[in-house]
Amino acid sequence: MVSSLQLFDSPIFDSPIALVTALSFLVISIVFAYTLACWRQRNMMYFAVLAFAVFINVLGYFLEVTATTLEAAVVASKVAYIGVPLTGILFYYFSRVFSGKPRLKALPFTLLLLPAPIFTISVFAYPWLPVFYEELAFSTQGLVNHLMVTPGLLYYPCVLYNLFFTALALFNLVTSFMKQKRYEGAVIFIFAITIPLAAYFYNLAFGNLDGWNPQRSALTLSMALLAIYLVRYKKAEWLSVGRELVVQDMDDAFILLDNKGNIIDHNVSAENYFPKLQKGALNYKLEELWEFPEENYKKYDVYQFGITQNGQYKQLKVSISPLEANEKATGTLVVISDDTASYQMIQDLTRMARTDELTGLRNRATFFSEGSLSYAMTNRHEGHKGCALMMDIDHFKVVNDTYGHAMGDEVLAYIGELILSRFRHTDISGRYGGEELCVWMPATVHHGAYHVAEEIQAAVEAKQFVYGSTTFSVTVSIGIACMRESNPKDFDDLIRQADEALYEAKNTGRNRICTYKPKAE
Ligand code: GH3
Ligand code: MG
Ligand code: MG
Repeated sequence: MVSSLQLFDSPIFDSPIALVTALSFLVISIVFAYTLACWRQRNMMYFAVLAFAVFINVLGYFLEVTATTLEAAVVASKVAYIGVPLTGILFYYFSRVFSGKPRLKALPFTLLLLPAPIFTISVFAYPWLPVFYEELAFSTQGLVNHLMVTPGLLYYPCVLYNLFFTALALFNLVTSFMKQKRYEGAVIFIFAITIPLAAYFYNLAFGNLDGWNPQRSALTLSMALLAIYLVRYKKAEWLSVGRELVVQDMDDAFILLDNKGNIIDHNVSAENYFPKLQKGALNYKLEELWEFPEENYKKYDVYQFGITQNGQYKQLKVSISPLEANEKATGTLVVISDDTASYQMIQDLTRMARTDELTGLRNRATFFSEGSLSYAMTNRHEGHKGCALMMDIDHFKVVNDTYGHAMGDEVLAYIGELILSRFRHTDISGRYGGEELCVWMPATVHHGAYHVAEEIQAAVEAKQFVYGSTTFSVTVSIGIACMRESNPKDFDDLIRQADEALYEAKNTGRNRICTYKPKAE
C-alpha cells in the first residue's frame, strides 16, 4: 500500500503535462515494439526506424519534463536529439516506399540523411560549442519543467530540415492515395502528418505553450494513427506495395502512358532498356525512345522489335494494353520483355529446317522458294540478267564404292563449303538432289556465270582427298542456263534448262561445262 502511494508522489504526477508525456512515451513504446515484431515484413523496416527516432525523441522529452536540474535537462535534450533531426527525413523515406515511388539510390539517400547526424552532434557539443543552442536555461515555472532555449546557428536549419521533409512526405502520400482513389487512406495520412506539422508551426511561431512543447505528443499520436492504419489495412496496403515492388523488381520493363502517350511511370528494367529514362524525366513520349506510331497506343497488340545493347542484339517483345476506367480511355500499359532466347531458338530452328546439314547449302524446298522470289525480282528489275548452274559429281558411285559412304560425304561437304565461299552473298545455292548442287546467280550474264563455273570446276579437281595412305580427286560436270539466252518460262524452267545442259556435259565426256541452247522452233 505504502509503496503504491509513494509512486503517486513521483514528479510525473506533479503536472498533467508530465503525465501526458509519460503516456506518449508508453504509446510510442508500444508502437515501436509492434514495428520491431513485424520488422521482417518488407518495408516495415522503414516504419520501424521512424518509430525508433520518435521513440528516442519522446524518451528524451520525458526525461526533460521530469528533470529537476539544468544538467539533467540538458542530458535529456541530448537524448531527444538523437531522434529529432531524423524524424522528417525518415517520414519522407517511409512515404516514398509506401506510395510506391522508386527507392532512392545510395548517393541521394545518404546526402539527404547527412544533416541529421550533424545536428545531433552539434546538440551534443553544447555547451562547449554553442552552435545549436546558444544558451540553455532551466525553468520549473509554467505547465511543466522545461528548458528555455536561446537558439544557435543550427537550431532553425534543423527545424526547417524537419519541416520540409515532413511536408514532402505528406505531399507524397496524399498525392499517391488520391491518384489511387484511396481517399480514406489519404485522410488518415493527412491527419496523421498534419498533427506534428501543426505542432511544429505552432512552436516556430509562438514558442512553447507555457513551458510545454506539444510536438512530441503530437508525433506520438501521429505514429499511433499510422500504426493503427497499417495494422487495419496491412493486408491491402502491403499487398499493393508488394505488387508495386514486384513490378519494380521484375525483369520485364513496365511503362505506363497517359492518354496523350506521355510516359508517366516506369520501372527499373525500363531504364535498362532505355537509359534515357534514368534521368528520371517523365513526360517523355514513347516514340522518343523508339519508333512507335501513336495510333498503336489505342489497341491491344503484341509485336517484336530489336535493339542493340552494348554490342549485343536483343529481340524485345512488346505488349500494348490500353487501360480503361468507367468506359473512358485512361492510358496505356506497355510491357516489354526480352525475347532474345526464344527468338534465337526460332532462328536456329528455322535455319536448321532450311539448311541441308551435310553441305550447309539450302535444302531443295528452300532453294526453290527463295530462288523463285529472287528470280521474280530479277525479272522485274535487273533487265533479265541471271543464270543458274547445276553441277553433279562425276562417277560419284565409284567414290562411294571405293572409299565408302563416309568419304563420299566428305567430298560433298567440301564442295558445299567451296560453293558457299566462292559465290556472292546474293547468290542462292542449294542441294537439288543426292549429289546435284544448284546455284542461282541474279544480276549475272553468261560469261560471268561461265567464269565462276570454271573456277569451281578447277578448284574441285585440284583438291586432293586423303583416304588412308592414298589420295584421290573428283571432277564435276556443270550445266549453265541464262535467262537472256534461253528465255525460260519461270525459275523451275530455268533450273530444268540447266539440268538439261548438265546432261549434255555428262554425255559429252564429263568434267566439263555446257550451256543450254534453246532448240530452234
Ligand atoms: P555420273 O557421273 O553419271 O553422275 O555418275 P554418278 O556415279 O555420280 O551417278 P549419279 O549421279 O546417278 O550417282 C549419284 C550417287 O550419289 C548415288 C548415291 O550413292 C550418291 N549419293 C547421293 N547422295 C549422297 C550422299 O549424301 N552421300 C554420299 N556419300 N553419297 C551420295
Ligand atoms: Mg554423279
Ligand atoms: Mg547424280
